[in-house]
Amino acid sequence: MTVLRRAGTEDRQVDRAELLARAQRVLPHGVSAGGRELYGDVVTRAQGAYLWNAEGRRFLDHLLSYGPIVIGHADPRVNAAVAETAARVDLNWVGPQAGEVELAEKIVSVVPSAEEVAFLTTGTDALQHALHVARAATGRSRVLKFHGHYHGWTGDLGVGANFDVAPGRAPGPVEPNSAGAAPDAGSWTTVVDWNDAAAVREVFAAQGRELAAVFAEPYLHSYTNAAPAPGFLELLREESTRHGAVLVFDEVKTGFRHHLGGYQAIAGVTPDLTALGKALGNGWTIAALAGRADLMELLGPAVTLDGTHHAAPYAVAAARRTIALLEDGGIERLDRLGGRLRDGLTRAIADTGVSAVVTGIGSAWCVNWRAEAPVTFREAVDADFARAEAFRLSMLEAGVLLPPYVLTDNRICVAFSDDDVDETVDAARRAFAAVA
Ligand code: PLP
Repeated sequence: MTVLRRAGTEDRQVDRAELLARAQRVLPHGVSAGGRELYGDVVTRAQGAYLWNAEGRRFLDHLLSYGPIVIGHADPRVNAAVAETAARVDLNWVGPQAGEVELAEKIVSVVPSAEEVAFLTTGTDALQHALHVARAATGRSRVLKFHGHYHGWTGDLGVGANFDVAPGRAPGPVEPNSAGAAPDAGSWTTVVDWNDAAAVREVFAAQGRELAAVFAEPYLHSYTNAAPAPGFLELLREESTRHGAVLVFDEVKTGFRHHLGGYQAIAGVTPDLTALGKALGNGWTIAALAGRADLMELLGPAVTLDGTHHAAPYAVAAARRTIALLEDGGIERLDRLGGRLRDGLTRAIADTGVSAVVTGIGSAWCVNWRAEAPVTFREAVDADFARAEAFRLSMLEAGVLLPPYVLTDNRICVAFSDDDVDETVDAARRAFAAVA
């Protein structure tokens, strides 16, 4: 039987094996989101950069819930803002809240494309609202998107098959079908390679009049970490404008991590609509759609804007405090520590002679198990999956938690220290040597 130990400051004692067995009986495959089951573990405490499992073992968390935890787990300053608000007011359906207006004003002042903002619950929500707005604005249905860009789990944007990567396995089918659609997306979806300017021009030439919208992660994070090629975002902007399509940047992962204004502020390319989520609330449930006022004003009259939990006051309070902390040196710290981490990993790769390359920006990093940095999804998955999985397991053994699927992106949060970064690099150096 698993030894019961006090985990952190909590009094709750959890028998991991027993809880996992009970979960199998009452949750689909024992979890509420795909991939969580792959760890076969249970977290009982989270603080700053760390998670502790039921046996009290500490892990440095480079998954960070796939992005929301940007300041740190259970950050006392964010949680104090939540507690103070929740003691005063909670979910209600009357008018706007003062905090909601202030948060919208802040986003309008920092995100270049934001003239108005609607607060929603998840990134998927924000992208689905963007799709509905684009269709209402243009009277068209077709969508152009890119391989490996994840825009939520559903509808014509849903491309779950791109992400069906079990440890050590190659991903599921990623080729578009004969109609040019992603395998599990609707037939209204055209999918081309990231950074393939010729393909973008071809699609606009053939389908420009049908395109309601172009969706892109302006810096690809969902698979590997791949920057836009020089001029690529500008091309999307020009072609969208010329053909009357709505350009949507999915900044659900880039927003409030690399720059308060999102990657669009770094790239100097302004989309029509921007989806935001994840880091906005440091783990509290909040997302947003921001954009041109004429498009945003379609929400309500032309496109339903209803959601029971939209702009929940405590989530808004979390977002306001998170943004204040990012503004007060948080983003600089992420950039500095992220640079230290990527440099350390690059040196460790050179010293151990493995065929791998580090990519990333700001707080984001990824070890690509191939000789060259990938610029497309196809290149990202043309990698040594067996070594990637051996590396992931070796890091886990060393107490460094990486995402459950190999080749996906990793990140740090403001709570990471220089020592935490160096601990990660040391563990990686040993893991590189072990899998070389
Ligand atoms: N867009 C990107 C780039 C994402 O990484 C994600 C989630 O991983 C989403 C959208 C969907 O966000 P959510 O899981 O909050 O619905």
